[in-house]
Order: sequence, then structure tokens, then C-alpha cells
Amino acid sequence: MPFSNKLPKGTPTLSYEFFPPKTPEGWGLLYNSLEDAKRESLDFISVTYGAGGSTREKTLELTGRTQNELGLDTMSHLTCVGHSKEELHLILQSLSEQNIPAIMALRGDPPQGQSNFTIHPDGFAHATDLIAYIKQNFCFVIGAACYPEGHTESPNVTQDIAYLKLKQDKGADFAVTQLFFDNSAFYHFRDNAQKAGVQIPIIAGIMPVKSLQQLDRFRSLSGCSFPNNLIEGLQNRNEAEQAEFGIEFGIQQCADLLDNGIAGIHLYTLNRSEASARIISGLRDLGYFR
Ligand SMILES: Cc1cc2nc3c(=O)[nH]c(=O)nc-3n(C[C@H](O)[C@H](O)[C@H](O)COP(=O)(O)OP(=O)(O)OC[C@H]3O[C@@H](n4cnc5c(N)ncnc54)[C@H](O)[C@@H]3O)c2cc1C
Repeated sequence: MPFSNKLPKGTPTLSYEFFPPKTPEGWGLLYNSLEDAKRESLDFISVTYGAGGSTREKTLELTGRTQNELGLDTMSHLTCVGHSKEELHLILQSLSEQNIPAIMALRGDPPQGQSNFTIHPDGFAHATDLIAYIKQNFCFVIGAACYPEGHTESPNVTQDIAYLKLKQDKGADFAVTQLFFDNSAFYHFRDNAQKAGVQIPIIAGIMPVKSLQQLDRFRSLSGCSFPNNLIEGLQNRNEAEQAEFGIEFGIQQCADLLDNGIAGIHLYTLNRSEASARIISGLRDLGYFR
């Protein structure tokens, strides 16, 4: 069943996120992970869109290949950064011609070295504008980003929820969260979003943890919080033990989300699918995604 049909039925989806690599070794890793993705019978995969430069063309090339050569239902990310409406239209047209079923419509982060998002003079200021444009002009399933612990530029989560509702009203079919580790923060966000009228399915973006060292980076990227049991479980363990604990934590986090009606699990693979595959295998052993 296509994932766009599964979501409204309340059947949880399973998906992976990839990015276009910059080096030949990176492409090797990615292709191994894509082979793994095929074996996992995922509902879809997604490919991120860079802040600028040649990786953007690689996203378009890669999505065409994953969709049409590997047969993986693919969601292409697209951002407003540095693009006029006309350019965005041409990109969307090309994605449509390649039969890409879904777009993750984003404003995007500023390119490296710039601290603020600059609106292109002929472009869009917010994801909501891009979502509305796609809805009016194309037939894609539209995904949007959401932030259980607040977007870094947002004064508070209530404001973010209001923009998530606007994303829904403009045409988003579902949302995927920023990475988070504290399920209680997510449930709080989801309850408040529902109270504010958000009805679209919200898929959890889950990052497999490999080490204690990574947590600082995750926090600076996303502003997420870490439950004590995650920090304590990683402390006083060697590298291999930390990676094992991270997988067990991921399995338990996803199982709890699935028990509490999550719309789907989207694993941020960072192009290395081993940990994500172990999490899925652990979930299948517990009776999920069978
Ligand atoms: C699932 C997911 C996938 C992502 N993939 C990518 C990717 O491929 N490439 C990439 O560069 N980045 C990606 N990002 C990061 C994302 O681009 C950044 O978080 C970016 O800063 C915000 O994008 P957005 O689409 O949420 O923007 P917006 O929804 O436009 O939000 C940006 C800020 O503006 C505020 N805001 C939103 N709408 C309005 C409005 N209508 N009026 C006024 N203020 C508003 C929000 O509160 C927020 O503070 C992803 C994030 C997530 C969660």
C-alpha cells in the first residue's frame, strides 16, 4: 500500500532519510545502505536537499534513481534557500516528470557561514509559502517539518504549533519531527498540536545514537533535550558498549511511540543503515512492523 494511503488509515509507516554524499567513498556507503533499505521493505525513503552548490543537483539525480531504478518510494526534500519561484517550479516539474510521489517542503537553513535565512528577492519566506505553491500547482504528497521542542528561531513551542497548523491549512499532508529523544516532550507537543487543530499524521524523526560525544552536536543542531536514562546509559561505557546501548535505547523509544499511536518512524540514517536496521529488527522481534 503506498504510504500516502497508509498514513490516513493510522497504520504506522517506516522510512529512512539519506543525504547526497560529497565523496566517492560516501557514495559507496550510501549505495550499500540503499540496498539494505530495499531489504527492509520500507514505506518510503527521503533524500535531503543541501543549503547550496552541487549537492542540490545530486539530490535530484539521486531521488530519480531511488524512485525509478531501485523502486523505493522516494520523498525529495526541497528548500526555499537561494531559489526564485521560477527555479522552484522547474525543480518541482522535473521531480514530477521523474514520478517522485512526495516532497518534504522546507524553508531550509542558511548556507554554511551565514547566520540568518535570507529571502530570495523572487522567492518564498517560509515553508508555508512553498507548501501552498506546491498544493496549487502540483499533485505531490506534501510533507512538512515540525519541532517538538521548538524551532531554534522560534520564541516558543506554541508559536511553532501555530505554524504547523498553518502548514496543514496550506496543504501539508503529514509532518516529520526534528530529532528528539524525550518521548514525553513529543507527547506534550502532539497533544497541544491536536488541541490547536492539527490533524495531519505526525511521523517521529528518530536518530540512532552511537556515543555520548554525539549528544552535544545533536543539541546544537536541534536544541533537543536528553532524558537522564539516555545519558546515564551511555556514561562509563566503551565505544562498542555505547553503540549497543544506543540501539537498545532506539528500540525502546520507538516501541513506546508505537504503543502511543505514532503515525510512523523515520530513521535519520546519516547514510549508514546498520544501526537503523538493528532498531527495526529489534522492533520486529517485539512484534511491530510485521
Ligand atoms: C524532517 C526535517 C527535514 C529537514 N530536511 C532538511 C533539508 O533537506 N535541507 C535543509 O536545508 N534543511 C532541512 N531541515 C532543517 C530545516 O530546513 C530548518 O529547521 C529550517 O530552519 C526551518 O525549516 P522549516 O521548513 O521548518 O521552516 P519554516 O516553517 O518556514 O520555519 C522557520 C521559522 O519561521 C517561523 N515561521 C514558520 N512559518 C511562518 C510564517 N508563515 N510566518 C512567520 N514565521 C513563520 C517558524 O516558527 C520558524 O522559527 C529539515 C528539518 C526537519 C525537521
